[in-house]
Amino acid sequence: MDCIFCKIINGEIPSKKIYEDDKAIVFMDINPNIDGHCLIVPKKHYTDFKELDDEIILHIEKIKREMTDKLMKKLNVNAMTISMNYGESQIVKHVHIHLLPNFIVKMKPEKSVDEVYEILKSED
Ligand code: 5GP
Ligand code: ZN
Repeated sequence: MDCIFCKIINGEIPSKKIYEDDKAIVFMDINPNIDGHCLIVPKKHYTDFKELDDEIILHIEKIKREMTDKLMKKLNVNAMTISMNYGESQIVKHVHIHLLPNFIVKMKPEKSVDEVYEILKSED
């Protein structure tokens, strides 16, 4: 399969790994949005988060916590953003979680809370 993360996992493409076990790997993002930007990637190829089974979800959750502590301590920061892109914003179609130490996103909403609430609670 022509998947860049599978190639990283099987060693065809080098990466800067900071954690690895039998089910998952954590490596530094090649084009970071902030210092210390890392990705948690399950070794099995799941396209997106909807394919993940319960066992791997729990496993990734544990890694998320461990890596958050490690990155915050080592980089001496007191904030962490943990995110996942889905749909058009997910460029690499092998599910992964972004760990973004000290990352502050400054976006402003376009609609009021009431406006969005009306949309969300309306019948499909
Ligand atoms: P997405 O938009 O799919 O959530 O983000 C994919 C991320 O993977 C991007 O932040 C991008 O910089 C990173 N990335 C893409 N190709 C490589 C690669 O070959 N090596 C590493 N380390 N990161 C990559
Ligand atoms: Zn893959």
